[in-house]
Amino acid sequence: MSIRTLDDLLAEGVSGRRVLVRADLNVPLDKQTGEITDDGRIRAVLPTLGALVSAGARVVVCSHLGRPKGSPDPQFSLSPVAGRLGELLGAPVHFATDTVGDSARSTVAGLADGEVALLENLRFNKGETSKDEAERGAFADELAALADAYVDDAFGAVHRKHASVFDVPARLPHVAGRLVLREVEVLSTLTANPERPYVVVLGGSKVSDKLAVIEALLPTVDRLLIGGGMCFTFLKAQGHEVGSSLLEEDMVETCRNLLERSEGKIMLPVDVVAAVAFAPDAEHHVVPADGIPSKRVGLDIGPETVAGFAAALKGSTAGGPTNARTIFWNGPMGVFEMPAFANGTRGVAEAIAEADAFSVVGGGDSAAAVRQLGLDEKSFGHISTGGGASLEYLEGKTLPGIAALEN
Ligand code: ADP
Ligand code: MG
Repeated sequence: MSIRTLDDLLAEGVSGRRVLVRADLNVPLDKQTGEITDDGRIRAVLPTLGALVSAGARVVVCSHLGRPKGSPDPQFSLSPVAGRLGELLGAPVHFATDTVGDSARSTVAGLADGEVALLENLRFNKGETSKDEAERGAFADELAALADAYVDDAFGAVHRKHASVFDVPARLPHVAGRLVLREVEVLSTLTANPERPYVVVLGGSKVSDKLAVIEALLPTVDRLLIGGGMCFTFLKAQGHEVGSSLLEEDMVETCRNLLERSEGKIMLPVDVVAAVAFAPDAEHHVVPADGIPSKRVGLDIGPETVAGFAAALKGSTAGGPTNARTIFWNGPMGVFEMPAFANGTRGVAEAIAEADAFSVVGGGDSAAAVRQLGLDEKSFGHISTGGGASLEYLEGKTLPGIAALEN
């Protein structure tokens, strides 16, 4: 991999230079209060920002937040993030109320050496995500005009062909930040030469998002444990009724095909927690995975499944490998945001943490679950900040943001 790194840039000297850092500050916000519910992504970029600040750079940070539709939308303002970033850095962060307009230009012009500015949400501008090269390029020109060098530390966005990720590095000297470098190093060990047994745990809500990664991982892994909302499409493929649980009907055939080709590597839940409604206080029972009553919705894997998955991770199961040495986990095992349905995620996460393995957690919600459930982040080998990006990396896809840094 021929990517220049932050250390290369620092070695050149950055004092007084304007350095644009593409960060992934797309943090979850409380729907009612607008407060940041998990600041993991802000913390993840601190090593890069800290190094630039110490070296006297004029640091210009940019990011997206949520999915605004190409124009300003106050509910997706990065303003609260500027506040939190300032607290974590221990120095105020200047906030520009636009991304490339008057406020951005004057905020950047007013930066002293070692100071940090945050631009308003990149996606308030159509050009950021445009499929039209010219429109994207025009926006990238404006962004690039704000800086003398570019650092990509937004691992969560490297799989996007967006202006700030793909087009800006073509216009400025560019390097990978600490976070991007670490992510790529870790993920490349998973694809190149994982220590065996290698066990992958997949959950979360959308099967269609993750089928490609299942396909790509099947030949490589020794065991694939499937829970979360996506397990129901697989259970259906086995011929079981799943009540009103999450189901992607048009994926059933594909799942059946995957199961047939999986050589028994895929492990599905044997029991699930079925509720009368998708609600935190809904009445619920543990039922066998092949006996989900109609009108019940499966919101978590059951205790017997947790025990089975734990055994596959840190013990042994019939016909399976013993004691995983490498683990990749993406996607919660249930609706962990509701305490009544968080036990599956907690149990599996604890088993991963206890296993004598190098463990990688990928996925925004999975990483948030680790923190929300109060698990020690240090008991995992690596917590990735990029869900989609880490999955696409494992699929072996070319990631536009990484390719742009290689050039
Ligand atoms: P990640 O961000 O870690 O990649 P996903 O975004 O794929 O994970 O999925 C996370 C979401 O999946 C969570 O919000 C969780 O509530 C939801 N989920 C997990 N299990 C279920 C289920 N049984 N039914 C509905 N949603 C579920
Ligand atoms: Mg998610």
